[in-house]
Amino acid sequence: MLPFLTPHLRVRSVLELDPPRLGGLGLDALLLDVDCTLKEYRTDDVPDEIAAWLARLREAGVGLCLVSNGHAARIGWLAGRHGLAFVPNALKPLPWGCRAAVRQRGFDPARTAMVGDQLFADVMAGRLAGLVTILVDPIHPEQEPWFTRLKRPLERRLIARMDREERKAASTAGFRRAAIAPSLQSLIPVPCPPSPDP
Ligand SMILES: [Mg+2]
Repeated sequence: MLPFLTPHLRVRSVLELDPPRLGGLGLDALLLDVDCTLKEYRTDDVPDEIAAWLARLREAGVGLCLVSNGHAARIGWLAGRHGLAFVPNALKPLPWGCRAAVRQRGFDPARTAMVGDQLFADVMAGRLAGLVTILVDPIHPEQEPWFTRLKRPLERRLIARMDREERKAASTAGFRRAAIAPSLQSLIPVPCPPSPDP
């Protein structure tokens, strides 16, 4: 599997990323995709439970910044409602938007994760920017525009392949650690040849 398309962590929803879990993962800042990650594509605002989650993270001191390919007026409106910083027109999968957010907010890249629902946008952009990447299940992806839906079948095939590789790795006796933050290493068992006998 290509590293720049492989998330460091997969969760069903951002709601699984509570402050204690983020602390355990060595993360203190999140760059957040918007559409299909925090809200449905066709709604303007996030649901109440996501708004409460954002408030909990902010109270816990977790750095937050929206990083979206959406236009400034739409993303800025949402950011303003929830007191968030934002980088619109991020051009993901290019890494520039992620890098700009990290630089503008003064985040430590080694302790920052890009969180989103698309391998070919969020994960790739986060990886290319040298960040931890977290893939979430998309919220109502059937509402997305055609050019995003076109990518979903290949994305599903890659995720199914990741599942197979993870199952295979889990059944392998020897593991080597992925070269990422130590607190995340145990999440990514990667099979390797057995060590030679001394
Ligand atoms: Mg999205």
